Amino acid sequence: MSVLKIITIGDPRLRKKSRPIRQFGKNLEKFARDMVETMRHADGVGLAAPQVGVNERLIVVEMPEEGFEEDPQAGQLFVVVNPEIVRAKGQLEPGDEGCLSIPGYIGEVMRYPTVVVRGQDVRGKPLRIKAHGFLARIFQHEIDHLNGVLFIDHIQDPEKLRRIVKDQATDEYREEPAGALVG
Ligand code: ZN
Repeated sequence: MSVLKIITIGDPRLRKKSRPIRQFGKNLEKFARDMVETMRHADGVGLAAPQVGVNERLIVVEMPEEGFEEDPQAGQLFVVVNPEIVRAKGQLEPGDEGCLSIPGYIGEVMRYPTVVVRGQDVRGKPLRIKAHGFLARIFQHEIDHLNGVLFIDHIQDPEKLRRIVKDQATDEYREEPAGALVG
């Protein structure tokens, strides 16, 4: 397994619509394992293939157990090929998001509290996942990546985007207004 390089905002590959995957097999399985390793290495909760420069429809999602002990889907790994949101339920809810491809920023984004995701596993077997809360948010964020959409695109009010700054003296993180971020 290997840790892949995560590309960041400004790279045009993050803005492309990704291709559906039609070839299942050893290469895809290896790529999916590398994606999982890359996500874990970066302490991420999700990663989409375009973030490692591959414009194909594959995402990996893993919500941490820590802080989400009540959620039965916490700690579960999801590897989804050609994921699609087939149902979204409830009123849009605000919540903070960051992105491994936009380091140093977080912002408040409106997402559906419940989604049903359909897709395939790495062998091509159909998958159906019902996700709530934070997990539903991660799926919406990762599937957006496959369409060239970043979380900042959902933020109209610049006050809702904040920069995370590490205080050199105390080593603590604080937030400050980010202003506009275009990418
Ligand atoms: Zn992201």
